[in-house]
Amino acid sequence: MSSKNLILIKIITAVLVIIALVISGKAFMEHRNYKEAVIAGPSVTEVKTLGDYYDPLKDTVADCNIYILDSGKPGATLFTIGGSHPEEPAANLSAEIFAENAVLEKGKLIIAIRANRSASTVTRPGDAYPQFYTIETDWGEKKYRMGDRWTNPLDSWPDPEVYVHYPSEQMLAYMDIRNFNRTWPGKKDGSFTEQVNYAFMQIIDKENVDLFIDYHEAELEYPVISTIVAHESGRDIAAMSSMTLTDMEFEKPISMEYSPKSLHGLSHREVGDHSDAVSLLFETPEPFLDRVRGVTDEKLLLEGKDPFVQRAGEFGLLYETIDEDGWPIEVRVGRHCSSTLMVAQIWNQMNPGKEVIIKNVPKYSEIVENGVGHYFDNPENANSDRVYYE
Ligand SMILES: [Zn+2]
Repeated sequence: MSSKNLILIKIITAVLVIIALVISGKAFMEHRNYKEAVIAGPSVTEVKTLGDYYDPLKDTVADCNIYILDSGKPGATLFTIGGSHPEEPAANLSAEIFAENAVLEKGKLIIAIRANRSASTVTRPGDAYPQFYTIETDWGEKKYRMGDRWTNPLDSWPDPEVYVHYPSEQMLAYMDIRNFNRTWPGKKDGSFTEQVNYAFMQIIDKENVDLFIDYHEAELEYPVISTIVAHESGRDIAAMSSMTLTDMEFEKPISMEYSPKSLHGLSHREVGDHSDAVSLLFETPEPFLDRVRGVTDEKLLLEGKDPFVQRAGEFGLLYETIDEDGWPIEVRVGRHCSSTLMVAQIWNQMNPGKEVIIKNVPKYSEIVENGVGHYFDNPENANSDRVYYE
C-alpha cells in the first residue's frame, strides 16, 4: 500500500471515530440532562431536597427531591425510597405512585423517588442497556431515564483498589464504593456516594423516621428475590406482612428473611443499626438483570419475558419461577405498592396510638388490571407549582 493511501485510510478512520464520538456524546448528554415530571399529590405538604439535610450536596447532581406528606395528625413517620439502584424501574415507579396519589389520614410519609440521582444519569452501554423507557398512561407516554446500579463515574472517580466500608472496616468490591446499597450509613467527608447515604441518614434522624423501606428488584439467578429483607427490629412486621400478602393478595408468594449481621453497607442492616428506624428492603423479580438474558431492550425491561431466562428456569437454575407471562412491570410495581400498604397496616396493629394511615394508593390487583401509568396524571394539565422534576 502506498503511503498516500495509508494517510487517506487514517484520515477516514479519524473522521468516523469523531462522528461516532459526537453522536454518542450527544446521546449521553441528552440522557444525563433529561428530567421526569412528577405531580405532587394531594397530601404533599412540602417538597425539600437532599441538600436541605446536608448542605454540601445542595444543587449537585445528587440533590434529589424529598416529598413530605404530612397529615397534620400525630402518628408514625414512614420513609420509602426508590432509585437506590436506578436499573430497577419498579422501585422509582412505585415511589412515584405514592408521591402522586397517597392521601395521608394519620402520621407522615416521606418519599424519595430517585435516591441515588447520579446513578440514574448513566446506563450500561457495554451491556446494551436502553437509555430510556416509556410507560403508557391514559393521556400518552411518559418517558423515564434508565439508570445503572452504580453512581455515575463522572461524579465519583477513580475507584479505590479495595473499598473499605465505613464504619465496619469490612472490605468490599472496589466498585461498590459507588453502590448506594453498599455505602450505608454513609460518611460525612467520605466518597460522593457515602455522602449521599450520610444525607439520607440525616433525614431519618431529623424527621424522626419510625419505619424505613428501600425498594429494589433482582435477577432470578440471585437468591435474595421476592422477599422482604428485615433488620431484626422489623422481623415481626416482615413475617406478618409476607404471610398475609402471600395468602390474600399475590399470585406468587413473597417471603421474608433476616438481614445478615455480618454483611455491611446495606440499608436493611445499617439503617436499623445506626438509627431508631425499623428498616426493611423489598425485592421483586426483574428478568432484564439476568446474565443469561437474550435481547436487552425496553420490551424485556417492562414486560419481563425472556426465553433464555425461562429455559434457565426449566434447568432449575433460578431462585424464582418464570413462565411465558414473564414478570411484567405492573406485577412488580403492584407487589411493592401492596407490600408497603401491608407493612403500614401491620405496623398500625402493632403500634396503637402511633399509626400511619395511607389511603388512595392502588393495590396489587388494581395495578395489574389498570397498568402503572393509569396512576400518573398529565403534568401539562397540572398546576405548575405542583410539578417537580426528577
Ligand atoms: Zn437493587
